[in-house]
Amino acid sequence: MKQCRPCFSPSDKDGDLFSEGAPPGLPSSDAVYSEMNRLAGKYAFATLSEFGKSVMGNPLLFICVGNGSRRVLYSASHHANEWISSLVLLKFMDELLGKSRTNEQIGGFSAKELLNKTTLCFAPLINPDGVDLVLEKLIGGKYYEQAKKIAGNYPSIPFPSGWKANIEGTDLNLQYPANWEKAKQIKYGLGFTNPAPRDYVGPAPLSAPESRALANFTRNINPDTILALHTQGNEIYWKFADYEPMGAYELGLKLAAASGYKLSNTPPVSDNAGYKDWFIQDFGRPGYTVEMGLGASPLPLSQFSSIYTAMEPLLATAANG
Ligand SMILES: [Zn+2]
Repeated sequence: MKQCRPCFSPSDKDGDLFSEGAPPGLPSSDAVYSEMNRLAGKYAFATLSEFGKSVMGNPLLFICVGNGSRRVLYSASHHANEWISSLVLLKFMDELLGKSRTNEQIGGFSAKELLNKTTLCFAPLINPDGVDLVLEKLIGGKYYEQAKKIAGNYPSIPFPSGWKANIEGTDLNLQYPANWEKAKQIKYGLGFTNPAPRDYVGPAPLSAPESRALANFTRNINPDTILALHTQGNEIYWKFADYEPMGAYELGLKLAAASGYKLSNTPPVSDNAGYKDWFIQDFGRPGYTVEMGLGASPLPLSQFSSIYTAMEPLLATAANG
């Protein structure tokens, strides 16, 4: 794993993502990288590194903080039009680090104690190319034209706002080797047999560089728990198939109580090939998909504040265990 500080040249184009009293900015890849760079620069103990590259060569960056033996890995924006999830993780990182310095509480826990008890790793942008496409930061060029062509085969899915996949039309959360064949059968049955704005499982498990990189990174970190942030539903999914890792239901109940979200069983048609499914299967430990907010993705920035209010205690509770 490459240590880098920074891993890229931050662009001057994007201002700060978060400013007091205003809704956050849009999390284009440039804006997310700049914010991660800012955090790593401000807090010496935050390590910024790269765990892979996207199809278009954009870095997949993570920040780890804390030095506890418990390890939690948070990820966001597997799905392009669920980019609000990136903002939630970035805001949480900022609050956690700030409050550890001022010795304040976050989500009902001492920020400082959380960092002593737990190592928290954040990968807030799993699908940078797709997010840039949805945010209309990527216009023109080979990859844009290819995506537009793919979308043309699915006229009922708005372009680019309905795009969930990576830039090549593979759904990154249908890529993991956990009942992948079953996911393929279900999605093929629905007509997603080729690259598509969503629901195409890809030619093989972990064929997309973004999912493959996250799987490798997860093996390296060997976390006790993972959380994958998605929209929408105000729900937390905690199970995969017949697997019920020890403590998973109990921690799920705590996450539900902290956020007000409902702890649910994954619906059978989507209980396959997801990141949390694979983590539960291969590691036998608690893994959660959190479906934040309500409405059609992409959720508007006007929902950010209410989503964050629910999520801050949930994310802190996951860190505490
Ligand atoms: Zn999603």
